[in-house]
Amino acid sequence: MTFSVHGLPVARGIAIGRAVLMASSRVDVAHYFIEAGQVDSEIARVRAGRNAVVDEIHRLQQTISLMGPKEAPHELTALLDVHLMLLQDEELISGVKRWITERLYNAEWALTTQLEVLARQFDEMEDEYLRERKADLEQVAERILRYMKGVASPVAAPVSPRRKTQQDLLLDDTMDVPLVLIAHDLSPADMLQFKQSVFAGFVTDVGGTASHTAIVARSMDIPAVVGARSASQLVRQDDWVIIDGDAGVMIVDPSPIILAEYGFKQRQAELERGRLSRLRHTPAVTLDGQKVDLLANIELPGDAPGAVTAGAVGVGLFRSEFLFMGRKGDLPGEDEQYLAYRRAVEGMQGLPVTIRTIDVGADKRLDDSLRDDAHLNPALGLRAIRWSLADPAMFLTQLRAILRAAAHGQVNLLIPMLAHASEIRQTVSLIDFARAELDNRGVAYGPVKLGAMIEIPAAALTLDIFLKYFDFLSIGTNDLIQYTLAIDRADESVAHLYDPLHPAVLRLVAETIAACNARGKGVSVCGEMAGDTTLTRLLLGLGLRSFSMHPARILAVKQEVLRADAGRLAPWAQQFLLAEDPARLLAG
Ligand code: PEP
Ligand code: MG
Repeated sequence: MTFSVHGLPVARGIAIGRAVLMASSRVDVAHYFIEAGQVDSEIARVRAGRNAVVDEIHRLQQTISLMGPKEAPHELTALLDVHLMLLQDEELISGVKRWITERLYNAEWALTTQLEVLARQFDEMEDEYLRERKADLEQVAERILRYMKGVASPVAAPVSPRRKTQQDLLLDDTMDVPLVLIAHDLSPADMLQFKQSVFAGFVTDVGGTASHTAIVARSMDIPAVVGARSASQLVRQDDWVIIDGDAGVMIVDPSPIILAEYGFKQRQAELERGRLSRLRHTPAVTLDGQKVDLLANIELPGDAPGAVTAGAVGVGLFRSEFLFMGRKGDLPGEDEQYLAYRRAVEGMQGLPVTIRTIDVGADKRLDDSLRDDAHLNPALGLRAIRWSLADPAMFLTQLRAILRAAAHGQVNLLIPMLAHASEIRQTVSLIDFARAELDNRGVAYGPVKLGAMIEIPAAALTLDIFLKYFDFLSIGTNDLIQYTLAIDRADESVAHLYDPLHPAVLRLVAETIAACNARGKGVSVCGEMAGDTTLTRLLLGLGLRSFSMHPARILAVKQEVLRADAGRLAPWAQQFLLAEDPARLLAG
């Protein structure tokens, strides 16, 4: 039966494919694709895990049998019997085998996927006793997972799962069906793992449109919907689904008519892409001759060549924290970071690269296991520059690596989340210290322009202080909106109040642009507003001439720039600052 689930639109486009449900297990589970030749060894790993847990239960049963009838815990005996029965259930292992053989999932992923399938069957059982056995099944699967965790996979987890190649499609027709990922939640680190992966779209139950998970999904340029509440409960493994990333809707089990309609929309979007691609080499200049810089936001050095191809004139924001994620506490050292930054710089072929120092905390955890439950308000806590200043050794390592990379091209150094003059002074002296350390070691480094992100209202209200210390400013509207309106950007329940057009936000943005323009200092917007084509004319009218966004948005924004007359937009844009309801002006 066809039904739809509504959420928040994150990344545009239509995806049609089969659902891959990512189970939220309490054990940290790796998800990656294996090579066809590794199928047998992955199946053997699951079998070994299951056999180890069976042996463990047998040992426990033996211990119990040695007890007298009075001390023997009867409940435990019964529980162990149930666990043994579940472990020996062929449906568990044969299902896991199927996911490994047909989909080339790694062993842990296959096990959690099959667990999800069986758990649904338990949910649907009439008998309450049987329904409750779902918890036992989960326990059993978790024990197998824990055992497997102690036994390293012979298959190394690739940094990102392999994208399906043309050869795969020819060799194996079970792999030619597009897959879409449905999960309760995906951390930014999870999302990063899926960059370059086979997935044609994403849906998550939680998350706001400016959450970092959404941002990474957008950077992957595939349709995505977040905040779809119970989507992961309503969809079953392998269901056909349509993800409409424009409307923020997922349609499950679509009828042939609906499929045909969305197939048509998909082809239209392809045609539009083709049309836009012709603008790749056209300079971004408004009708009245104003030159506009369209820059790229990237997460990893490997994104740089794609940014050049997309027509970016530089990187306006390299979110360096993604180099630090998912490493289980083993942070990259100076040389590793230097090589990564250098790779990004060289990948941009002489164009400037703005590297932002690490911005972790809030919804960007270094590791999924390191959930920040200890702090009541992680978004207001120890994140970004506060985190760096709290660990000067880590910060200096990063600064030295960036300065060294600057010897290979044009590098700008960008500092996130500053609010206090004391933080600015501390940062500046640490940068001087990093240079002195490199001098002492006789290591080469290059000059950098120094920039600050304006993402806390306190910063936007004290621009004179910032302009004294910095060469340029970059407006992080994602956080600026969050902190101005007191709306957690990752919380879907208040997403309707997360409003880039709130007059308070617009006034802070406008004042920052005007102050920089008046002083001849560079200013750009690098939050999601920069890639939103409905806002391009407004930002141009407010005097912005530098926009930094996901590479996939560059051509659409360029089209808006080419059609705009910046001089005529200026008085129109000023009206927004005084309007009670600026969204109406935009519509009118
Ligand atoms: C922002 O806050 O607008 C920004 C670009 O930084 P991030 O999204 O990484 O917090
Ligand atoms: Mg930010």
